[in-house]
Amino acid sequence: MKIKVNSEFCLGCGLCEELVPEIFRLKGDTVELINDVIPEEISERVEFAIEDCPGKAIQTKRTTPPGYANRSGFAESLQ
Ligand code: SF4
Repeated sequence: MKIKVNSEFCLGCGLCEELVPEIFRLKGDTVELINDVIPEEISERVEFAIEDCPGKAIQTKRTTPPGYANRSGFAESLQ
């Protein structure tokens, strides 16, 4: 799983950084990603961050089987 943060919707609350400090770092009013590729061992905490993000600013890029990727490369979003 890969993720990205849409800074337009980020409220800068810091919840994601609290849940997964290995991935999210609060920077001013938004968050930057330390790594956009999520290791399996922390994916559950990242899913919690995605679900609980008050701005719904965190999006997932899931790997899809060859031939199924859409044009943008985004196969699915939890928003
Ligand atoms: S939880 Fe969402 S709104 Fe809060 S800092 Fe993280 S990305 Fe931004």
